[in-house]
Amino acid sequence: MSKKQITIPVFIPHSGCPHCCIFCNQWRVTGLSEKVTCDSVHKTIELYLSEAADTIGKVEIAFFGGSFTAIPHVEQIEYLKSVKPYIEKGVIESVRISTRPDYINRNILDVLKSYHVKTVELGVQSFSDRVLTASGRGHTSAHVIDAVSLLKEYGFRVGIQLMPGLPTDDYETSIQSAAEAVELFPDDVRIYPAVVLKDTEMEVLYNEKKFVPLTIEEAVDRCSIMYGMFIAKGINVIRMGLHPMDLSGGTVVAGPYHEALGFLIKSRYRRGILEKVVKDAAASNPGSGILSIILPDKMKEEYIGMKRENIFYLKDKYKLLKLNYTYGNIDEPQILD
Ligand code: SF4
Repeated sequence: MSKKQITIPVFIPHSGCPHCCIFCNQWRVTGLSEKVTCDSVHKTIELYLSEAADTIGKVEIAFFGGSFTAIPHVEQIEYLKSVKPYIEKGVIESVRISTRPDYINRNILDVLKSYHVKTVELGVQSFSDRVLTASGRGHTSAHVIDAVSLLKEYGFRVGIQLMPGLPTDDYETSIQSAAEAVELFPDDVRIYPAVVLKDTEMEVLYNEKKFVPLTIEEAVDRCSIMYGMFIAKGINVIRMGLHPMDLSGGTVVAGPYHEALGFLIKSRYRRGILEKVVKDAAASNPGSGILSIILPDKMKEEYIGMKRENIFYLKDKYKLLKLNYTYGNIDEPQILD
């Protein structure tokens, strides 16, 4: 049996964060109301390890939710110390944390390094200072650039989280943010289109009709372009859209929340590639009405789309009677002669 790499998530909701971003209600998002203790960290680790004991390969522990390096120093050390015995025994290989770009400095990184933290994810959300201000982030894009540069100097793996669709954001600003993130060449990226959660400032704005979130269609369209920009440069996009587990009980008030949002975005991106092939073939053989294509076997679901929506879209747009498809061991879609 092949061994799989697992990440053990530990959520530290809003713990110690002195900010109040308008989209955030970490207590609600994580579904937790109690403080995370070292004891509960141990219990979480033991639970994960026991459930998949025979199949576990590399193990990473990830402190998500709050801003890890913004919590009191003593607490950071307690959490990191609680993981240390597992690292020394070789049971856990590495630690991942998420934090704010303005809580990264040499003192902080020295501590993280000494406790085997390997990956630091930064909640960046946008590279537009206008959007950051409107979202109450309390930092600027310059903080992001400095933080990434310092993290790389120390040899950390770097993650960047972006949130298209925040107040004052628009299509061009989202794409520009993705372009600036690409320039920094992070190891991982997460794209979370902004959703309105209950008990947030953004909910108030939404109710007062001062903020209109993206529709699912707009989010899919915009994020598919952003996704394409990252993967074109070999940058790993590890998640798009909130995981249902993050919500723990229906706290979304409005906005582009969909359980399969990541698939919808990838599928939209693949549609763009497929469309170029179909468009050229339709133009060079006008009036025939029938096209046959081979799709890369390993990504066939993404090319076809949910409920075959990409096939229906192209058939309709290029006025085809039939768009036949089969699969092959190829990297790009091809027309079948
Ligand atoms: S910095 Fe992070 S934890 Fe703090 S309010 Fe903003 S999103 Fe929430």
